[in-house]
Amino acid sequence: MPEHDPTLFIDGAWGTADAGRTREIHCPADGSHVVTVDEGDRVDTERAIAAARRTFDAGDWAATSAWERGDLLLRVSDILARDKDVFARAESRDTGKRLVESEYDMDDIAACFRYFGKLAGIDAGHVVDTGSPDSISRVDYEPVGVCGLITPWNYPLLQVAWKVAPAIAAGDTFVLKPSELTPSTAILLMRALDEAGLPAGVGNLVLGAGAEAGAPLAEHPDVDLVSFTGGLHTGRGVAASAAATVKKVALELGGKNPVVVFDDSDFDTAVDHVLMAVFLHSGQVCSAGSRLVVQHGIADRLVDEVVRRAEQIRLGGPFDPDAETGPLISAAHLEKVDTYVKDAVADGAVVRTGGRRAENPALADGHYYLPTVLDRVEQKSRAVVEESFGPVLTVERFTDEADALRIANDTHYGLAGGIFTSDPARAQRVANRLRHGTVWINDFHPYLPQAEWGGFKQSGVGRELGRAGLGEYQEAKHVHQNLRPGPQHWFSGT
Ligand code: NAD
Repeated sequence: MPEHDPTLFIDGAWGTADAGRTREIHCPADGSHVVTVDEGDRVDTERAIAAARRTFDAGDWAATSAWERGDLLLRVSDILARDKDVFARAESRDTGKRLVESEYDMDDIAACFRYFGKLAGIDAGHVVDTGSPDSISRVDYEPVGVCGLITPWNYPLLQVAWKVAPAIAAGDTFVLKPSELTPSTAILLMRALDEAGLPAGVGNLVLGAGAEAGAPLAEHPDVDLVSFTGGLHTGRGVAASAAATVKKVALELGGKNPVVVFDDSDFDTAVDHVLMAVFLHSGQVCSAGSRLVVQHGIADRLVDEVVRRAEQIRLGGPFDPDAETGPLISAAHLEKVDTYVKDAVADGAVVRTGGRRAENPALADGHYYLPTVLDRVEQKSRAVVEESFGPVLTVERFTDEADALRIANDTHYGLAGGIFTSDPARAQRVANRLRHGTVWINDFHPYLPQAEWGGFKQSGVGRELGRAGLGEYQEAKHVHQNLRPGPQHWFSGT
C-alpha cells in the first residue's frame, strides 16, 4: 500500500504510477516538504489516453447538452470559491508564491470556470444564408475529441483552468499533465471536478516529468489536440511531435515584453507599473515586463527611482505577511537567471541593483534572487533577447515614437507590451503598431477571461480565453441539406 494518497486520476479512479515511482515536492521558499505524489511515465499517460479515447468514442459525454456542461462548470466555480483557502495554500506551498497572490489567482480561476460555464450554451453554431429557399445550411461547433493538456509551474492552476474549462464546455475528454514541480492544485481540481459530477473518463490526470509523462500527449495518434503552455524550446518540440499525426496544436509560450515609457507619462504611475510589471512573482510571469524601453528625457530620473524602489522590495515566504514577492521555483532556475545577468554584464551592462541571490540568512533555505536592474544593455545581449523568467529588468533608451516601436518590436516573441503616455492619440497609434497579443495602456498585467490571450510570432499559436479560447477545443462542421433533391445533370450521360 502506498504511504501517500494516490494522485493519478484515470477513468474516474485514483491510483498510483505503474512503475511505483514517487516524487517529493518541496517548497521553494524554505525547502520544507510539501507532499509525496506519484511519478507517472509513458505507461500511465497511455492508460489515461486510452480512457479518454474510450469515453469520447462512447459518445455519451459529447452528446450532453452544452447547458448541462456549463452548469457543471458553474458548480466547479462554486467549489473553488468554497475551498479557496485550501487551494490557495496548496498553490503557495508548491510555488513559494505569497498567499495573497494565490488567493487572487483562485478568484481568477473561479471566474474562468464561471465564464466558460456561461459561454458553453450560448454559441453552439449558426445558420448560414444559402441564398436559396431550397436548401438549408448550418455550422455546428463540435468537440475536437481527446485533448492533451500540458501546463507550467508559474501559475499552476490558472494555466490548467484556461484549458480544462473550455475543454469541458466544448464536450471534449482530456488528459492533464501539469508541471511536475507544482502538482498539488491539479490534484485538488480533479477532486472538485469529480464532486461536481464530471463523468468517469472525461477528465484524467497524470503526473510526472515532461519527457516521460508529457511527451505521449503530443505523439499519440489517439490524441486529437495538444494544448501546451510552457517554454519556447519545449513548445517547438511539442509542435514537431504533434506534426507526425497532424493533431491540432495550441501553444502558449514565453514573452520578452516591453514596457514603453514616453517622456510625457505620469512619473509616479510609470515607476509603480514598471516595478509591478517585472517584479511581480519575481518575474516568473510569461507577460513580465522585463524590457524597459524609456524615452531619453525621462530615462535617468525614472531608472534612478525604479532602482531606489526595487531596493525596498521585501522578499519572503508565502506566509510572511511582510513579504512583497517570493522565491524562484528552484535552485536550477536561480542559476539560469544568474547566468543571464552575468552574460549581460560580460556584454557591457551596468548592474544598477541586485544581480545576485539574496544574502539575508533568514532566506538561506529558499531560492531568492534580488530584484535586478541592468542599465546600458546591448540590444543583442541574451538578457534582452531571451526570457530570463526572473526578477531582471533591462533598460533601453529611445528617441522618438518610431524608435520606440523599432525597439519594442525587435523580438522574436510577441506576447504582451505596455505603453505609458499622457497622449491618448499616441497611445492608440503605438498600440496599433505593437506586434504583441496584449497591449496595456497606462497599466500592466490585467487580463479578463472574456478577452483572448495569446502570442504573436514565437509566443505561440492560437488563443486562450475569450470566444477563441473555446474555439480551440471545437471543430466547426458545415451541414448542408438540399430540400428539393433531384438530378443535377452535371454530366450529360443518362
Ligand atoms: P517547460 O517548457 O519546462 O514545461 C512546461 C510543461 O511541459 C511541464 O508540464 C513539463 O513537464 C512539460 N514538458 C517538458 N518537456 C516536455 C516534452 N518533451 N513533451 C511534453 N511535455 C513536456 O516550462 P516551465 O518552465 O514549466 O514554464 C515556464 C514557461 O512557461 C515560460 O517560458 C513562460 O513564459 C511560459 N508560460 C507561458 C504562458 C502564456 O500564457 N503564454 C503562461 C505561463 C507560462
